[in-house]
Parts: sequence; C-alpha cells; structure tokens
Amino acid sequence: MATTITTQNPFNEKPLNTYSLFTEKQLETVLQASQNTFLTWRETKIKQRCKLLKKLKALLLERKNDYALLMTQEMGKPISQGVAEIEKCAWLCDFYRKNGEDFLADDMIKTEAHESFISYDPLGVILSIMPWNYPFWQVLRFAIPTITAGNTAILKHASNVTGCALEIEKLFKDVGFPEGCFTTILANHKQVETLINDSRIKAVSLTGSETAGRKIAEIAGKNLKKCVLELGGNNACIVLNDADLDTHINTVVTARMQNNGQSCIAAKRFIVEEGIYDTFVQKFQDKIVQLNTGNPEDNNTEISVLARTDLAEELEHQVKESIKQGAIVSYGNKRMNAYYQPTIVTNVTPEMPVFKEETFGPVAAIIKVKNKEEAYKMASLSKFGLGCMVFTKDTEDALARISQIEDGAFFINEMVKSDPRLPFGGTKASGFGRELSKEGILEFVNKKNVYLK
Ligand code: NDP
Repeated sequence: MATTITTQNPFNEKPLNTYSLFTEKQLETVLQASQNTFLTWRETKIKQRCKLLKKLKALLLERKNDYALLMTQEMGKPISQGVAEIEKCAWLCDFYRKNGEDFLADDMIKTEAHESFISYDPLGVILSIMPWNYPFWQVLRFAIPTITAGNTAILKHASNVTGCALEIEKLFKDVGFPEGCFTTILANHKQVETLINDSRIKAVSLTGSETAGRKIAEIAGKNLKKCVLELGGNNACIVLNDADLDTHINTVVTARMQNNGQSCIAAKRFIVEEGIYDTFVQKFQDKIVQLNTGNPEDNNTEISVLARTDLAEELEHQVKESIKQGAIVSYGNKRMNAYYQPTIVTNVTPEMPVFKEETFGPVAAIIKVKNKEEAYKMASLSKFGLGCMVFTKDTEDALARISQIEDGAFFINEMVKSDPRLPFGGTKASGFGRELSKEGILEFVNKKNVYLK
C-alpha cells in the first residue's frame, strides 16, 4: 500500500510535491488533540467563536491570489475562478459571523412547563472527507458552521489537493483558532475507515462521488453515526419555447462550463422544447466556441484541463459509448491528456451514459422534447436529485410545478448555485443532509429537549 501522495499539475503534468501519509501514531495524536480541544471549545461563547470568523475572512482575502494559484496548480481550475472561490468563502465567514449566534440560540417552545426549549449542543469531533473540485469552498462550507457550532473538525481532503488541505489547516491556526479545532490528516481509505470506527469521531460529512458516498454511509451506518452526504448530480436544465435566450444563454453556458464542467450542481442534461431547439443549440455552440481556452494560470482563461487525466478519459468513454447508441457529436469531443474540449452531444436518449450518468466535465447532453410535460418528465428521469432549473417566461406555471420536482433545489430562470443564505443538498443518489444557511449549522448538533417543570 502506498505510503506517500504525490501531487501533479494537470496542465503541464509536472509533479508538484510528495507528502507522507500519517502513521497510526500521528492519527491517534490528531484525534486525541481534537477531542481534548472539543472539551474546551464547546464551553466558549458563541460570540467569541463568531469573532474569529472576521479574522478568517480577512486572511482569506489577503491570501486569495496565493490560494487561487495553488488550486490552479493542483487541479487546473482557471485562476480567475479560484479567486472567486476564495471571495465566496469570505462571504460565508461573514454570513455565519452575523447569524451564528441567532441560529444557535435556544429555541423556546411554549408548553405547560415553566420553561421548555431546544438547546443546540455540539456533538464533538466531526470527520470531513472532501473532493478536489472546489478545494477551499467545499471544506469551508462544512467547517465554518460546524466549528462555529462548537464542534472540532478533522479534514481528509482528496489526495490530489493535499497542498490546499495543508494550507487550510494553516489558515485556521494563523487566525487563532485553538490547536486541534481544525486539523488536516493525510490518510488512505483504510485509515479513514478506522477513524470512523473510533468512538471519538461523532459524525462524518462527505462531498464526493456516489461510490464514495455508499462506502462511507455503510461504515457510518455500521457504527450508528450520523453522516451528511453531498454526492454527484445530473441536473436537468429545461429550456421551454418561451425562454428568453438572449437574456439567459450566458447563464446556461456557465451552468455547464464553469470549473471546467466539474461541479456537482452543473447543468448536465439540457432538455429543450422542439420549437426553440435549433436556436438553442446554435446559440449554445456560438458561446462555447468563444470561451478562452488555455493555461489555467492565465487570467483570461475560461476553460482548461480537468483535474486529472483519468477523469478526462472517463468523460471521453461516456461520450464514445453514447455515440455507439446513436448520440451525435455536434461540437467538440477532442481530448489531449487531461484536456477535454467543450462538447455538445445531441440526439441523446435516456439509455445513454451522457444522460444516465454524471458527466464531470464540459459535455452538454442535449435532448429534444415535444412539449412542456415531456420536458418535466424527462428531467425527473434520473437517479440523482441535486437540482433542476427551468428557463421560461411563464414563471407562474413553473412555480405551480414545485411539487413535481424531487430534487433538493429548483431554480427558475437562473442556474442552480450555492449561496450561504440558502440550504444546499440533494435527494436520491445525490445524498442527504443540508449544508449552508441555518439548516447547515444545525446538522452536527444535538437538538436537546430541555424541560423545566
Ligand atoms: P471520490 O468521490 O472518489 O473522492 C472524493 C473524496 O472521497 C476524496 O477525498 C477521496 O479520497 C475520498 N474517498 C473516496 N472513496 C473513499 C473511501 N472508500 N474511503 C475514504 N475516502 C474515500 O471522487 P473522484 O476524485 O474519484 O471523482 C470521481 C467522480 O466523483 C467524478 O467524476 C464525479 O462524478 C464525482 N465527484 C463529485 C463531486 C461533487 O462535488 N459532488 C466532487 C468530486 C467528484 P482520495 O482522493 O484519497 O481517493
């Protein structure tokens, strides 16, 4: 079994760094320190915890260019999008700094008792397993509310973004969070399993693939531990005949292509009514042709390499298998190492991999439908349930269909996106639990019933 991790720049394929995995003894030290810190951290005033978020925000903004460069080098994100990611993390700090105390305040409930209320107590040490696609955002989206609630956190990040994982740990230390409040470990899957089995770990949060989700849920379930799972998505983007494409086409293209197409909430299946179909395909293509492709370290670059060559190969395979079943490549489909050209696939049907599976890269699968009813039906034909978007002028009709949507989000005339103020999470194979907003900060707490007669 490997005892080291070597990171590699996916754009130039040069190795970046080699790190040693933690020994069992190191993991034990981290776990015990995290547990010890929890016992004092949970006693601190929420106000005091929230105060640290101000400094966290300031340091994030001060270092945003360095962090963006590191993300770009480790996983190929266009650098301007990396800067935007760090700015969004700063917004997250602000949101919980302003609202943390309110969200965690005792919730008084009138009964015949003298006093009865819900007390939101932290659980303890929470393990997080995070992916490489938004190396800072995914981690902080979990860590900020979880730590503000009085828990301590241990991070096992995706191995290809180990540099980011260590920088995030340093960030918390530099801000002045107590040692052990947030710790990064470098661990393999077996070591993660051992950690989840340990009674000091109270719950797990995973963002990643469905496969990883099933495995982690199994281990957590065996131990009767709570887990929050943010897994893959296969969001439908419904475009109806009355959609205002001149206004929305940029949003629609961004919904698929941002982060080189590697986003769980990206629009992946474009379900288009036949009256607008030809115009839509043409406008979509016109836009992707104009995207600046190149070195992700270049400020103007909008599309670059995927995070790893195997991910680009997998995407190519999904398209190839779909072509065998009758799909037509209208644009793109060229791969060079980790680079995969923005691609449009038409003539797509529900049996094809580009419809059934999550495509984690810049591939737009376009499906033509006869009418609105068929569009909504087609949208729900997915084992995933992260989000659904519709573009239409008839917003009244869209709102009347909320109950038809099984996903965790329904966006009308906007792409599905995360926002600290709103809950984020999925249904079905996209997982369960919610992050962000008040819902997110209440995931890893004991909602304790206190009753005073
Ligand atoms: P994974 O789900 O394999 O990796 C995500 C995280 O989970 C990483 O930290 C990984 O660690 C860890 N992990 C995976 N399996 C286990 C396990 N059995 N025990 C402990 N930790 C585990 O994603 P991939 O990088 O393989 O990407 C593959 C696909 O996943 C993508 O094509 C996409 O479909 C989906 N994905 C979805 C994301 C989302 O935001 N919803 C994000 C990333 C991927 P390690 O790196 O050490 O393997």
